[in-house]
Amino acid sequence: MRGRRRLLLHACCAPCSLEPVKYLREEGFEPTICWTNPNIQPVAEHDLRLEVLRAWAADVAHVELVVGADDREAWERVVAPAGADRARRCRACYAVRLQEACRVARREGFEYVSTTLAVSPYQLFDECREVLEATARANGLTPVWRDFRPHYPESVTESRGLGMYRQNYCGCRFSAAEAADERHRARDERKAAKAAARAERAAAGAGAAEGARSR
Ligand code: SF4
Repeated sequence: MRGRRRLLLHACCAPCSLEPVKYLREEGFEPTICWTNPNIQPVAEHDLRLEVLRAWAADVAHVELVVGADDREAWERVVAPAGADRARRCRACYAVRLQEACRVARREGFEYVSTTLAVSPYQLFDECREVLEATARANGLTPVWRDFRPHYPESVTESRGLGMYRQNYCGCRFSAAEAADERHRARDERKAAKAAARAERAAAGAGAAEGARSR
């Protein structure tokens, strides 16, 4: 810890925290995880993700964890009205969470602030970077933004190896509906592709039978 730079790392979930903690430590930072995610719905899902993160932080990564505010009213007021407008909604959602992380960082005397949102290829990378940088600077902090996306496959393998719970949607009710739609669309496409392949095989079989009869 001596000589290392203390950094407050906003974490969205345990699986996305594995690589940032590892690589930020390699750079000479000592991360403390900050949990503040009032976007996660329902509350039982929020609590489950937090518990998984707590267990990993304490037992595996040996990293401190602080819990910030869970201001669900603010999230509904500031983020939810954007509804299906994903760019506007996610930008506002990043701002709510990262502003709270910066508040905690100032209170706890950190200079550096970062976020695990830079791991997932499903997040809006540029928008999130802009929000982190603007919010950190407005709070007199130094943003540490890294492109962790190339490490996403590692995070999937490692979190599976640890038997970690892995959610299948980002967090809010809108993302749950969008992810369900996406799964249904992918399932329908697979079904259509299988039906087309069956029809092709049947047509080829019928053609071969016709050829044999006419010889
Ligand atoms: S999709 Fe994720 S980042 Fe975007 S608003 Fe929902 S919870 Fe927030």
